Amino acid sequence: MKSSILSVGTELLFGQITNTNAVYLSQQLNLLGIDVLSHYTVGDNPDRLSRMIRQAFLDCDLIITTGGLGPTQDDLTKEVACEVLEDKMVLHEPSKERLANYFNKLNRPITDNNWKQAYFPSGATIFSNEAGTAPGFALEKNGKTIICLPGPPREMKYVFEKKVKPYLEEKHENVIYYRMLRMFGIGESALETKLIDLIDTQTDPTVATYAKEGECSLRIASKRKTLQEAKAAVDEMTEQVVIRVGEYIYSYDDEDLYQVVGRKLLQSGISISSAESCTGGLFSTTLTEIPGISSVFDRSLVTYSNRAKIDELGVDPEILEKHGAVSENTAIAMAEGLKKVSGSRLNISVTGIAGPEGGTEDKPVGLVYICTILDDDTVCKRTLIRNVDRRWNRNYTVMLMLDGINRMLDKRPQIEQ
Ligand code: ATP
Repeated sequence: MKSSILSVGTELLFGQITNTNAVYLSQQLNLLGIDVLSHYTVGDNPDRLSRMIRQAFLDCDLIITTGGLGPTQDDLTKEVACEVLEDKMVLHEPSKERLANYFNKLNRPITDNNWKQAYFPSGATIFSNEAGTAPGFALEKNGKTIICLPGPPREMKYVFEKKVKPYLEEKHENVIYYRMLRMFGIGESALETKLIDLIDTQTDPTVATYAKEGECSLRIASKRKTLQEAKAAVDEMTEQVVIRVGEYIYSYDDEDLYQVVGRKLLQSGISISSAESCTGGLFSTTLTEIPGISSVFDRSLVTYSNRAKIDELGVDPEILEKHGAVSENTAIAMAEGLKKVSGSRLNISVTGIAGPEGGTEDKPVGLVYICTILDDDTVCKRTLIRNVDRRWNRNYTVMLMLDGINRMLDKRPQIEQ
């Protein structure tokens, strides 16, 4: 089934409200395995609304509208939908009764325009709205279906969840299951090259790559008769992907890298401290996004200057003199010094050149050293980050730190970049 979402409301065109209804409906329809071909937005204008419904029906068989179902003169979605599908408006007794009860309970007089909400196209399936006054409805003609829902998001979601979903599930025989794999340490084009045999021959499941800042995602989706069948197909494809690029995958469940690391630290109870130079506290800021992390996160020392590295971490001034602040020796000395003061099981240090100034031929902008000590294991990694700008370099450095920790916690080898 192919669908379009049509949002009605002049406020949307003015940019006064954000179209959260369309986002929600797209997500829900995708989960039901219904393709969403387009989003349309139209103001409270019956002619344009009518043209847009006709236009959308040219390439889809289901339209879901939101908004314009209320009692006022400019709420015209119902009437226009009725006209386009060549039906006529009739009084719906149960809705009239519900409306009368609603106003009685509130002890408010019912005005003439309120009765408008009890009229529906004669062939409509009515979706009563216990979360508000305007019910939604579905109207079908010649294989085309229009479903009209109220505009307020809370009411729209209620009617969709309770009434529309079961209605669509009955009409529609396929379900979609998908999985989002997250990867670090491989670019989108390299990823595509490694998966080219799977991508070129895909029908179902489909495999699509997405590039995010500094990382890649892979969406594996299957549309089958049952959820079990779709899930089995996605599982099988996931195995094929793992054979090719498993070493880069850090999440099979669309989690961010910092969330994965935070979860593992909390589960294992491994205490952690950091000593940051070029990231200036960004690592600890990221880690402290995780609720409850205080039970394992001890401290982060921002040791930006040489003096701070000597005073706070006990780095030998000779190391700094001989090898420079951005060097393997300094990174190791920082992590070892940190281990002494923190007593944490995992200690991580970072030193690098974030730019845009300060690079030399030997030590260009983007050069970072990260030293991670977990109990008695020490790993110090040198990486030359593709220098984009200072913000990128610092963010990417934090990703490198998290990736290094993640691999150490899993006892997986570090990757070269
Ligand atoms: P009512 O019964 O309240 O008159 P309605 O079905 O006529 O509802 P509208 O009058 O079009 O709906 O919209 C009511 C309110 O719902 C808007 O002021 C806005 O706050 C919210 N709303 C409408 N459409 C959307 C949308 N697409 N996304 C998010 N919010 C929306």
